[in-house]
Amino acid sequence: MNFQHLTYWQDKARDIAIETRLFINGEYSDAADGSTFETLDPGAQQTLANVARGKKADVDRAVQAARRVFDDGDWSQASPGQRKAVLSRLADLMERHGEELALLETLDTGKPIRHSLRDDIPGAARALRWYAEAADKVYGEVAPTGHHELAMIVREPIGVVAAIVPWNFPLLLACWKLGPALVAGNSVVLKPSEKSPLTALKLAALAKEAGLPDGVLNVVTGFGHEAGQALARHPDVEVMTFTGSTRTGKQLLKDAGDSNMKRVWLEAGGKSANIVFADCPDLDKAVSATAAGIFYNQGQVCIAGTRLLLEESIADAFLSRLQEQARAWQPGNPLDPETTMGMLIDNSHADAVHTFIREGSQKATLLIDGRKNPWPAAVGPTIFVDVDPASPLCREEIFGPVLVVIRFKTEEEALRLANDSDYGLGAAVWTRDLSRAHRMSRRLKAGSVFVNNYNDGDMTVPFGGYKQSGNGRDKSLHALEKFTELKTIWIALES
Ligand code: NAD
Repeated sequence: MNFQHLTYWQDKARDIAIETRLFINGEYSDAADGSTFETLDPGAQQTLANVARGKKADVDRAVQAARRVFDDGDWSQASPGQRKAVLSRLADLMERHGEELALLETLDTGKPIRHSLRDDIPGAARALRWYAEAADKVYGEVAPTGHHELAMIVREPIGVVAAIVPWNFPLLLACWKLGPALVAGNSVVLKPSEKSPLTALKLAALAKEAGLPDGVLNVVTGFGHEAGQALARHPDVEVMTFTGSTRTGKQLLKDAGDSNMKRVWLEAGGKSANIVFADCPDLDKAVSATAAGIFYNQGQVCIAGTRLLLEESIADAFLSRLQEQARAWQPGNPLDPETTMGMLIDNSHADAVHTFIREGSQKATLLIDGRKNPWPAAVGPTIFVDVDPASPLCREEIFGPVLVVIRFKTEEEALRLANDSDYGLGAAVWTRDLSRAHRMSRRLKAGSVFVNNYNDGDMTVPFGGYKQSGNGRDKSLHALEKFTELKTIWIALES
């Protein structure tokens, strides 16, 4: 990994070639009506590019291309070995173009270059490679029937998948969906967020270079209420896989119901509880994981540990160490490899986070206030203590580096507070008591429970939520279930 210096990235940023057109049926093209929208660099506070604004006509064309190649079988009927080779080549190409992809991601989102280089791009390539390797390792079943019949249970690709993704980890989250969808043999129309469309467009060219047949991966950039909605209501899209807000997720369920009852898989919002008991085995580790769990990616992480639940007897000691630790997370130039905290996605999101802080501070105590810094799109680490669990600070997803702290006295109280949320994406428990760790893990209503860590994991484990955090799971072999039909073939045998 080449972190280099600020000037290295500034020079590269000046020269970078940016693709701005839709990618449909293996070719770049403008939107049918020629319209575009601006994507901004929140660090430099300037327009980065004008990108094709795909609408219904473009979505129709992309879905048609995806359908045609699916029916032709160039990919849907390719052998698992062939799919594995193409997706592995794509992962190789992404690694080879790692610097360029990381730079695009940082310019488009304002996230620190060190994180794009270290986490986003390698993670995205790893996801594709992991599914590529799974291509020829997933078997069907033979049912235990009598001797006069044979029942085989096989998994088949479904058809056209629409993948709609958000802006917080644009390429990574796209690849969590593309990996299983493509390796299963489907065709995909990917719609990145209008706030971060650039790496998806670059990925499309790399996929073609890797040998993915035309039409198998299409990228339609544009707005949610235009391109997104056209996909959600399209009668020829069979699967919708989505990561984004709970509000949009609910709308997609309605659109699916009003159109063709396409399957809708949702990875949505979160308000995860991070619970530290007095018998936490390593307080320093818990403090630094807590800080990273809320400040990493400027707090724009669905599974961020936004609610810190501290056992009364250690609360003061923990908070004073946490304040110390927060100093390591201060907003800076995203292109500087030393920067650990970059920009929020744009100024209007920063304003929304400011509003939460301003209104929250009327009812709760602000231990650290991240509003004052020289960057218009940045908010620094912010910590509220003694917060009412019923307040918006505790219940709503702020999607910024804002931590709320609640004290508890008993295990039962901690569990009640943690589960008192509309969301259920993640939860963590810090304790050296194995029985308690196990008890809590089973009773916490969350898709992932972390014991003595926050948000560890890799491609082998499923990721997703309970309650209004979504349904289905990304990552692991479980994700393949979302992109395959289960078929029974029942054969009567002659005796
Ligand atoms: P968003 O819901 O506003 O947008 C997500 C995507 O949906 C974008 O591509 C957008 O254009 C599209 N979209 C918006 N309205 C649409 C519509 N009516 N029809 C079809 N598509 C539409 O979310 P966001 O602000 O981009 O992302 C932040 C949200 O994503 C947060 O709530 C966060 O928790 C969530 N998220 C969840 C996970 C997870 O795995 N659970 C991971 C990352 C982010």
